[in-house]
Amino acid sequence: MSQAYGYAAQESNTPLAPFSFERREPGPHDVVVEIEFCGVCHSDIHQARNEWKNSKYPMVPGHEIVGKVSAIGAEVTKFKVGDAAAVGVIVDSCRECENCKAHDEQYCLKGAVETYNGKEYDGTPTYGGYSNVIVTNEYFVHTISPKLDPAAVAPLLCAGITTYSPLRHWGVKAGQKVGVVGLGGLGHLGLKFAHSFGAHVVQFTTSLSKAEDAKRLGADEVVNSKDEAQMAKHKGTFDFILDTVSASHDLNAYLGLLKRNGTMCLVGIPEEPAPVAAFSLLANRRSLAGSGIGGMRETQEMLDYCAEHNIVSDIEIISMDQINEAYERVVKADVKYRFVIDMKTLKK
Ligand SMILES: [Zn+2]
Ligand SMILES: [Zn+2]
Repeated sequence: MSQAYGYAAQESNTPLAPFSFERREPGPHDVVVEIEFCGVCHSDIHQARNEWKNSKYPMVPGHEIVGKVSAIGAEVTKFKVGDAAAVGVIVDSCRECENCKAHDEQYCLKGAVETYNGKEYDGTPTYGGYSNVIVTNEYFVHTISPKLDPAAVAPLLCAGITTYSPLRHWGVKAGQKVGVVGLGGLGHLGLKFAHSFGAHVVQFTTSLSKAEDAKRLGADEVVNSKDEAQMAKHKGTFDFILDTVSASHDLNAYLGLLKRNGTMCLVGIPEEPAPVAAFSLLANRRSLAGSGIGGMRETQEMLDYCAEHNIVSDIEIISMDQINEAYERVVKADVKYRFVIDMKTLKK
């Protein structure tokens, strides 16, 4: 075991504070990553505050991890010491089940091991990226290009793959009309990807102050979703809609915008279930779907695509001791568009 340190929530209602814990010695296939940057995902807040009712404490959140390899196990082939490396939302899966074999490790039938607030298969609790170091099997560690700003790469490991994967799965491409609902950490990356894939992209927002920004990020049109006349104009015209909103909202209003055989995919996680009218789906043979992160092969593909097309997250860098204040601002959607912790500011 080696000593690690970071910031943890000790209970659902206490602020994050300095915390020491142990990391395993690297096994033959493990990579030790000294963490340089970690993104702040909205789900870190949900879990630190036990809003999904499955939290285990103490909890070191963080699953958008970028750093440098400081040691490797004897059988590691993908990395050498000094390489840039990244870890996302999961750190293990069985790698034998039907879903793992299909490169969808996030849907592992044995249950994928989450980077934090999870348990390794031997029962050890997992601790995330708000810390100085992480030890992870190389299969779950990604390579990143030196061409991109490492701080701005960090959010790609959750927000990036969460939006890239469904856009790829449903084959978004040039000639299609695609909607993005919500312009936050997820939405702004969904917008960049959909634009980069060549689609005609419509950004839906309720705060028109974001319209200029949406256009800068790649939107061809911006629609105020509170304006019924504007919404009516787009009725039955979309091939695909990516819904990134985590607050309760009316899904039927967006389903009605899909054309024949169109799909709306949910990637945000509102606390309350949403009512769906059957007629919203019957008309035009529409589908309502969901998607969770992406597999390891697709995550690497996404990171390589981002390097090739110069896509990163828009970020605000914070120091580790600003984390509790940052959480308040994320809850108020007061961030453009992702906070990233500079781990140099973490003191032993
Ligand atoms: Zn996340
Ligand atoms: Zn599996």
